[in-house]
Order: sequence, then C-alpha cells, then structure tokens
Amino acid sequence: MFIFKSKEELQKHLAAFGNEKTIGFTPTMGALHLGHMHLIEQSNLKCDISICSIFVNPTQFNNPNDLAKYPNTLTTDLEMLVKVKCDIVYNPPVNDLYAKGETAKSYDFGSLTTGLEGKFRPGHFNGMATIIEKLLNIIKPTIAFFGQKDLQQLYIVKDLAEQMQSNTLIEGVETVRGKSGLAKSSRNKLLSESAKKEASLIYNCLNYCKNNKEDGVNKLKLYIQQEFLKHGNFTLEYAEFVALNTMLPINDWEGVNKNAVCISAYHSGVRLIDNIIL
Ligand code: AMP
Repeated sequence: MFIFKSKEELQKHLAAFGNEKTIGFTPTMGALHLGHMHLIEQSNLKCDISICSIFVNPTQFNNPNDLAKYPNTLTTDLEMLVKVKCDIVYNPPVNDLYAKGETAKSYDFGSLTTGLEGKFRPGHFNGMATIIEKLLNIIKPTIAFFGQKDLQQLYIVKDLAEQMQSNTLIEGVETVRGKSGLAKSSRNKLLSESAKKEASLIYNCLNYCKNNKEDGVNKLKLYIQQEFLKHGNFTLEYAEFVALNTMLPINDWEGVNKNAVCISAYHSGVRLIDNIIL
C-alpha cells in the first residue's frame, strides 16, 4: 500500500497509470471502522485501484470542540486499510489542501441544505463540499464512494459533482451496523459500552418506522419523540421525514424508497446521526 502525504506525490503516482485504470475513491476523516471498510470493498469490486483519503477537514466543523475531540487512530487505520487491500492512502497535512487563512467556499445546493444537518450544523456542508471538490479535482476518480449513513451529504455530493461537471460517478453505499443496530461511526469510540447499548434506540426507532409505514408520518414522528423522552440519557435533536430528491420534510409518503427518516441525537455529549430509507 502506498501512503502519500502530498498531492504532488499522489498525482505523480496516478499519472503513471494514464487512462488505463479505473480509480475508486473513498474520502474519510480516519478513525476507521467496518463502515469505511465496506466502502473500500465496494471500491475494490468496482475499480482497478482503490484510494482512501484520511483527512480531518477543519472547515466542516462548526463546533471547534467537536474538531478537537475528533478521534485520531492513524496506526490502526493504516493496518485496517492494508487488510482490506486498499492500494493508496492520501493522508495530507492541512496545508497541502488549504492555503493559509483559507475558509470554506459558499455553495448553493438549494433545498438540499436547508434542513437536517444543514439546519443544525451551519456551514458544515460548505466545508464538506469545499474539501470534496478539492479531492475530486486532485484524484479525478472514476467512482467516489459515500455512505448512506450521511444521507444528506450523499445527495449534496451528487449535486456538487453535477455542478462541477465532474466525470466522477458518486455511488452511495448502505450503512454498516453493529449487532445492536447501532450504525458504525468514528464517534462511537467516544461512547462507553453501556452508552453504545442504549444507542441502539436510534436504530430501533428507524426500524419501527420502516415496519409501520401505514401509521403515517405524523404518528411515527410522535412515536420517536416519545421513545426518546422515555430514555433520559438521550436528547433528540431532530427526527425528520424527508423526500430523498429534495431533502425537504414530507407529510405523506411519496412512494416506495422515495423517502427517509433521519434522526440526530446526543448521548453523553456525543452527537449521533442515522437514517433509514422508507
Ligand atoms: P467519515 O470518516 O465519518 O467522514 O466517513 C467517511 C465515509 O464513510 C462517508 O461517506 C460516510 O458516509 C461513510 N460511513 C460512515 N459510517 C458508515 C457506516 N456505518 N456505514 C457505511 N458508510 C459509512
């Protein structure tokens, strides 16, 4: 596995392949887990060369404390990437991707950014899109892999690729979960074992919605709110039913696999998000 710390080294390495090889790219912020591994496995299946970036992007953190607390496990990350047969890792310092004092670009993603994470993490998607635009321009992958776990991000990146008139195909990959249903997340490392068990509440609520669609949006929303009130260690930030194509709230179902329920909640100071397509 090749590890590059600068975009010049990476691009020099990639240039040697010419147009002969398809490139699969998985951007991450490290603290890797089985969810990330699944993205790389999809990349291995669909492309000749798999590249993973590990870069904690400062411009997408609206909360400096969240950035400071973000787990860093580079040594085990690299071991996991060797095991999953990733070909190339790009792990640059901030100044390889940002000029001194550079801030996030301002994008217009229309309704995609008005609700959910866009509402509760102001500036987050501008920062995310800024780094993804840079990475897509540097790597020019054939396919870039993004998790459905960050559903709103996935749809925004698809829109970004269109705005960039990029040739990269943006592919969504299903969410990998632990036995209790808790979605794998780098932030889970910040939870105690008992908190992790309690956090299965999120998936239980999502699953309940999937299995009880006939109850309708309003009743299901109330159900989630009541379940969270019963569990004092959790604070529900939002439980929102949205249309996939617009990310706007819905009152009624629009058909099969056209909507999603998205939840954000805090447990012991750790922010967890998850969703299920309905
Ligand atoms: P992150 O390192 O959290 O920025 O995530 C990097 C990529 O991994 C994003 O595309 C995420 O959506 C994806 N991802 C994170 N958690 C999971 C999961 N549990 N299952 C599948 N993909 C995930």
